[in-house]
Amino acid sequence: MRYKYYGTAAYEGIPALWCECDVCRRARETGGKNIMSRSQQTIDDKILIDFSADTYMHSLGGLPLAKIHTCIITHDHSDHLYPSDMLARLDGYAHLQDKIPLTVYAASAGMKHTETVLKKEIGDMEQDRIRIRKIEAYHSFEAEGYEIIPLKANHSLITTPVIYLIKKDGKCILHANDTGYFPAETWEYLNNNPVHLDFVSFDCTIAANCGDNNKMDGHMNFATVVNVRKRLCDMGLTDASTICAVSHFSHNGLGCYDELAKMGERENLVVAYDGLEIEV
Ligand SMILES: [Zn+2]
Ligand SMILES: [Zn+2]
Ligand SMILES: [Zn+2]
Repeated sequence: MRYKYYGTAAYEGIPALWCECDVCRRARETGGKNIMSRSQQTIDDKILIDFSADTYMHSLGGLPLAKIHTCIITHDHSDHLYPSDMLARLDGYAHLQDKIPLTVYAASAGMKHTETVLKKEIGDMEQDRIRIRKIEAYHSFEAEGYEIIPLKANHSLITTPVIYLIKKDGKCILHANDTGYFPAETWEYLNNNPVHLDFVSFDCTIAANCGDNNKMDGHMNFATVVNVRKRLCDMGLTDASTICAVSHFSHNGLGCYDELAKMGERENLVVAYDGLEIEV
């Protein structure tokens, strides 16, 4: 599987709108990998993970949206689900070569939000361009030949947050952003359903901030990521062959990519940037 980061920032992006902090100032001055757009990834450019407000920007950068028919949503925050732009797939806005709908898999909050936005645009008119499927944590489903298992995340509950295990051809990826230290139910699931993880993408929103707080809620920093990785390793889910990366950075994490990359190197963590591809 080929996992590609199109966007690696948290809600504000780096640099953030309006922001005059030191991280944002230096990101504007230096550009390159220090510019991070809102979170979005793909698996083999077939499974789209999240639909952020920067999806249009990512399409300009090579995201082959018209060829993608499956989108899995982590939770209902606008840096992961921005359904107003999903409407651009409706008849009259997009001229598509195939008639395959985009299937959007989302837990209850994301599903309701997407349905509400669609209904506001087209009322009760029938459309066949977007269909929404409700998912439940710990209930696996199949899409595009991948087995996908949503797991509960430690994040704002009102957004019904999940992280994802994605399996194909004997390989397994854990996509884990917008979560703090995993909730007990998710540890229990992983303990009862052991897998070998070939790649893990961890939330590292707060990066260098919050000192050594290693069991954070909502998001993680480097210390929490190291703690979660150790527990996964102790459980036998990861080993020396597992690639571990960190992503979903905020300017409140106190570093531009250049500084975060050095911190990641010390902890043997790949620091993601927009455009990075990981092959497992
Ligand atoms: Zn986020
Ligand atoms: Zn800033
Ligand atoms: Zn969030």
